[in-house]
Amino acid sequence: MSLIGQSFEQLEETLVADGLSRAHGLPLFKALHQDLESAPEERESLSPPLRRWLRNRGGAPGCAPRLSEETASEDGWTRKYLLELKGQTEVEVVLMGFPGRFTACISTQEGCAMGCVFCATGQMGFRRHLSVEEIVAQVHYVEREVRRRHDDRIRNIVLMGMGEPLHNFEGSIHALEILTDTRGLNIGPQRVTISTVGHVPGILRLARHPKRYNLVVSLHGSTDEERQAIVPVNRKWPLGEVLEACREYGSLKKQRIFFAWTLIEGVNDSMAHARRLAELLEGLDAHVNLIPLNPTDQFSGEQPGQEGVAAFQKELRKAGLPSTVRQRRGIDVAAGCGQLRSRASCSG
Ligand code: SAH
Ligand code: SF4
Repeated sequence: MSLIGQSFEQLEETLVADGLSRAHGLPLFKALHQDLESAPEERESLSPPLRRWLRNRGGAPGCAPRLSEETASEDGWTRKYLLELKGQTEVEVVLMGFPGRFTACISTQEGCAMGCVFCATGQMGFRRHLSVEEIVAQVHYVEREVRRRHDDRIRNIVLMGMGEPLHNFEGSIHALEILTDTRGLNIGPQRVTISTVGHVPGILRLARHPKRYNLVVSLHGSTDEERQAIVPVNRKWPLGEVLEACREYGSLKKQRIFFAWTLIEGVNDSMAHARRLAELLEGLDAHVNLIPLNPTDQFSGEQPGQEGVAAFQKELRKAGLPSTVRQRRGIDVAAGCGQLRSRASCSG
């Protein structure tokens, strides 16, 4: 297994299994995740036996994504990196933010099996889960970018790129364990957000996980019929079950849950929709993120105008439900929510 895909404890075990002292674990973990050494075997501060061991393993700490394409938004504050991983897999990573609050939006799968009709990743279908090291490597890539360009660091991680993170539960959660480790990159769990389509078993499992990551549940519909038409997995995990899992999550974690609502004109943007949404979430400590639909190739829906968005938000407020309209970011480079899709799939 690659070194960057191993938790601190796993790394120690790997060292011990190869006859090295456990004490080498900390300097090695730091070299891999804090200093982001691409060739730790050459680092003078690491002990000679450790460097020798690294050289014997062939040196490389793990997957080093290759940049296939980079696009920056006009204002320069959103950058989309198309990264090539093993086996011609391409995933997109988005870096957004300002000094002091850079956010990495990373992918957990190549494609997605959930098939939401308005989402470019869903439109390309499912290819495969990304491995732990491939998820960690995306953050390392953008962290190096932020250091180089801005002399700053990544503060927030959002699992809102390509894929359904809870469908790849093991990969996603293990990668987050490594990324939030205080001996490594040390991203606070409260600065990590996992967005899910409403993967019920995943939500229930996460509710029992010791770390408190932020959870976003994507709803988009206030009745099963309405939601099913745009979020096909609603057949498997209907609204009632999703909300029950959220209630369990809320009561176990004592944590506010965020709900994403992609606003599509004439589909889910009426005042009746807003009122039904508020009713659905009654009793939950909930906050709604409204995302006006971003354009994708295979979906002809439109986003409501600004007044429509404001009216929807006002209706939620009247019903006592807090909400935020998600900033439109990176739309000019197709790096907005739901616009991520690898180049390979466009030509294929
Ligand atoms: N699979 C997870 C996370 C990735 S999608 C999920 O569905 O939550 C991240 C967010 O982008 C989700 O809330 C999703 O509903 C939203 N989204 C997808 N396509 C979109 C589009 N075309 N315009 C606006 N938001 C979109
Ligand atoms: Fe998958 Fe999320 Fe896109 Fe739905 S919105 S297809 S769950 S990535």
